[in-house]
Amino acid sequence: MRRDTRAKRIEELAEGAAHCRAFGHHWQHVTHEGGRKKGWAVTMACPTCGTQKLFQLSQRGELTAPRYIYPDNYLAAFYIGPDERAEFRLEALGLAGPVLKVVNGDRPELPMGKGKGLPGRRADER
Ligand SMILES: [Zn+2]
Repeated sequence: MRRDTRAKRIEELAEGAAHCRAFGHHWQHVTHEGGRKKGWAVTMACPTCGTQKLFQLSQRGELTAPRYIYPDNYLAAFYIGPDERAEFRLEALGLAGPVLKVVNGDRPELPMGKGKGLPGRRADER
C-alpha cells in the first residue's frame, strides 16, 4: 500500500503538479511488456510531474482503465476547484504577477466543518 503524501497547501504541491493539473500530462511511452497474443502491459510517464500511467493494451489496441502512480505531493489534501485551477494556469505560465497577488490578498483558510464558507461558493463545492 502506498504512503499517503498529499500536499496540504498549494505551495507544497510537487514540481510540475500545478502545470499538469492546469493543462494535462505530457505522456511519454516508457516500457511495454507482453506480446501480440495476450496484449501488452504499458507504462507511460509524464516528465513534467513524474506521474506514471499503467494500463493494458489489447492486441487490437483497446485500453483497460489506467492506474496512476503519483509522486509525493502531487495529490492534494485540499479542494482543487475552478478557482484553484485558474491560479495554477497563471502560475504554470509565469503570469501570476504581484498585481494579482495584491488584488486577491492572502489566501483565506478554508473553514473546517460547519460554517458559512467563502463567498461565491456553495457549501457542497468544498
Ligand atoms: Zn504530469
